[in-house]
Amino acid sequence: MGLKKEKISNRSTAYIFHDLGIDTFVYLVETKKKVFIVDTFCGSLSMEPILVDLEKMIGKKAIIVNTHFHWDHVWGNCAFSEEIISHGKCRAYLDRYWEKQIEAHKKQIRGRTEKKLPTITFSDRFCYPEEGIELFYSPGHTDDSISLFDHDDKLLYAGDNLEKPLIYVEDNDLETYIKTLEKYIAFSPKMIMAGHSMGLTGEDLLGAIDYLRRLGAGEEMVFTTEYERSVHENNKRVLSKES
Ligand SMILES: [Zn+2]
Repeated sequence: MGLKKEKISNRSTAYIFHDLGIDTFVYLVETKKKVFIVDTFCGSLSMEPILVDLEKMIGKKAIIVNTHFHWDHVWGNCAFSEEIISHGKCRAYLDRYWEKQIEAHKKQIRGRTEKKLPTITFSDRFCYPEEGIELFYSPGHTDDSISLFDHDDKLLYAGDNLEKPLIYVEDNDLETYIKTLEKYIAFSPKMIMAGHSMGLTGEDLLGAIDYLRRLGAGEEMVFTTEYERSVHENNKRVLSKES
């Protein structure tokens, strides 16, 4: 399956999946009493290494976080019996689009998946003060996106709101997207962990804001790789759609 594991801090680990064409990351943050798992990738099989690690964290309660409704972040939900937390919109989109996403991408299921919706939802923020963990609404890549800030590690988990080499826009509200990225800056994160990129910095945040401003202004931009060109074309297409 091509899984790699990387320690990010003394309480945080990245599980890296190489098999979608782009790297995808699932993160685990282990606190004293709780373990946060950020996204669940593509099915039960992909979550097995995490379940094995969880078993060793005796007496700790797992909390599964869905950063947004896209299939490559939620199909492993069924591997867990614990609480799953997301934005209210994410739960609604999952309910509405679950079968549609299966239909479109079923080749990517790892092991099995079944419709499993978040059990806790919020609209603005949801904090675990004892753990130093804050979940907050961060619309951008999609309008149901949430992020997690670890106040102890000063690490920000941003879902698909940041991505290298270029962010993927799926919602045409660029002003809101920029506001979210500015909110990220206000946290002064030491590093940013995203769904398909790891170890991003404040500079990457500024680069993404700059890109969105130029995209919104319809500025001509030149990219050196075919991949970036195709993402940029997608972003322009999203923008030209009615909201
Ligand atoms: Zn996404």
